Amino acid sequence: MSRHDNLLACYAAQEKNSKGRLNKESKPKYRSEFQRDRDRIIHSSAFRRLVYKTQVFVNHEGDLYRTRLTHSIEVSQIARTLAQSLNLNETLIEAMSLAHDLGHTPFGHAGQDKLNTCMKDFGGFEHNLQSLRVVDHLEYRYAEFDGLNLTFETREGILKHCSLNNAKQLDELGQRFIKRHQPGLEAQLVNIADAIAYNHHDIDDGYRAGLITLDQLMEVNLFKKPFYGVQEKYPNIDERRMIHETLRQMISLVIHDLISNTEAAIKELNPKSIDDIRGQSYKLAKFSDNINFEHLELKRFLNTNLYKHPKVMEMTNRAEIMIQGLFDKYMLDNDALPDDFNEILKGKTEMLRARKIADYIAGMTDRFAIAEFKRLI
Ligand code: MG
Repeated sequence: MSRHDNLLACYAAQEKNSKGRLNKESKPKYRSEFQRDRDRIIHSSAFRRLVYKTQVFVNHEGDLYRTRLTHSIEVSQIARTLAQSLNLNETLIEAMSLAHDLGHTPFGHAGQDKLNTCMKDFGGFEHNLQSLRVVDHLEYRYAEFDGLNLTFETREGILKHCSLNNAKQLDELGQRFIKRHQPGLEAQLVNIADAIAYNHHDIDDGYRAGLITLDQLMEVNLFKKPFYGVQEKYPNIDERRMIHETLRQMISLVIHDLISNTEAAIKELNPKSIDDIRGQSYKLAKFSDNINFEHLELKRFLNTNLYKHPKVMEMTNRAEIMIQGLFDKYMLDNDALPDDFNEILKGKTEMLRARKIADYIAGMTDRFAIAEFKRLI
């Protein structure tokens, strides 16, 4: 039992009733099991690559935009506040946050959607499942096992969604998708922390890039209300500072709403253990109806005005061409792949070959993918 376990809520994920690791290991001496998970994630090569992977803007477009790495750190920062205030496992939620995007392809969503199309005859590509593949299989550093051999709880938080077909191929982790049950609260909250982080930082990045204007933002209710308050209180600050102050208040507003609503849902269910939460078919972690509506409105706003902005679409189109080009080339030409692939792919079916190639492409940073495309095509 970790020395922190007895300070946590009875329905928090606790080390003493963890479902453990796929490969048995001796207990860490000075760390908790979940600290060990977090540390392994930080030491992984997939984690270091996040710094060169696109969130919305390609890494080389500017030094100040979010990357997958800074996004993951922001998710972790929000998630830790949520865990702390609800007496949940903060170390575990940090591990989940830092690992949640490890399976992301280069070039953000465009890359992942294209890779999914490329893989349509070979079982498809799901970025969430890919994050799990990274920590379960693809990291290649420990003597006794492939992957990072993380605890069930951390893996539960990484796998947010999963198709039924793929869930059936998994160990116990797939069961909740088949039974339509929920994961523990830490996993539920990290999912929302992800959305809170990107909805707010994408406004910031979009505004910085000149793709979103203040006039447009005033269409968003979640933005408009705090903005008027800021304008009244600080009439003499410049527009940029006003927007930042508004964003910071928006984040606080949705976080406070999430905490108080989740608290109320917990009180109503009165769970005695994490399994009481896992047994439910509905989520306990949620916004109030009003904030949920406005948060979705913000998401739609970003979809229309930022993710589909012609400047962003230009990158999207280029990304699709590169991913498709690389996939086709590797499928046809062994010599285009690194030398050790000859050995790895020897005698493998077309299906396994495609999966290995998808793993290879998904692992690439933006700049490596661009360099490979230039080299080969
Ligand atoms: Mg994310």
